[in-house]
Amino acid sequence: MRSVLRAAVRAGTTWAGSVRAVRTEEAHAVLTFDDGPDPVGTERVLSALAARGASATFFVLTERVGKYRTLLAETVAEGHEIALHGLDHSRLTRFGAREVGTRVATARRVLEDALGTPVRWFRPPYGAQTPTTWRAVRRTGLEPVLWGPTAWDWLDEPVPVLAARAMEGMKRGAILLAHDGYGDDPGDPSGAPAPTFDRGALASAVLDALAERGLRGVSLEAAMRTGTAERWAWFRR
Ligand SMILES: [Zn+2]
Repeated sequence: MRSVLRAAVRAGTTWAGSVRAVRTEEAHAVLTFDDGPDPVGTERVLSALAARGASATFFVLTERVGKYRTLLAETVAEGHEIALHGLDHSRLTRFGAREVGTRVATARRVLEDALGTPVRWFRPPYGAQTPTTWRAVRRTGLEPVLWGPTAWDWLDEPVPVLAARAMEGMKRGAILLAHDGYGDDPGDPSGAPAPTFDRGALASAVLDALAERGLRGVSLEAAMRTGTAERWAWFRR
């Protein structure tokens, strides 16, 4: 019995766990924005965050970092955290362990060269990972981060609908998935058009709804200064 329990604890915390929330005494909700930098979306999200004194973690694609270096620098200058989403938006579960390791390690190097500082977190596109890809990512030294609530903002819907969805299951220490850009898998494209709603308006609506619940939007780095990561297994293709 004891060995079974130990295995379960190990699965949840060490070798199979991904960060999905933060245990914290602070009135913090973690804001994450994926798929940028984006010349329209990132600017709007940055303005919304600045207007409300919030910070966030941006999971970026390095092929876009190359195109929009100024936007990346602006995001850092405004006090936000940069993390890695990938070279591009490929679903990593399509690749073997070696290719996943090479892609993630290369992307990490490119991003750290652009930033001049180390990167800590990685979010697999689509949240798609298997124990094999998870291990390959961990071997690069990065830590997988998934999410709790999400705005489902890859769909083009009215901002109040998306904001209400983002707030479902929202609580202290929750990690919200939202987007400042739009990603598609270059090797298996959905072909769906990028949404056209105002991503800054969505960020503002979410921040206002958080404030009504007494919660402040912060980056993962900021939440982890006084909190601890909650990790549990998350695998899906
Ligand atoms: Zn993405």
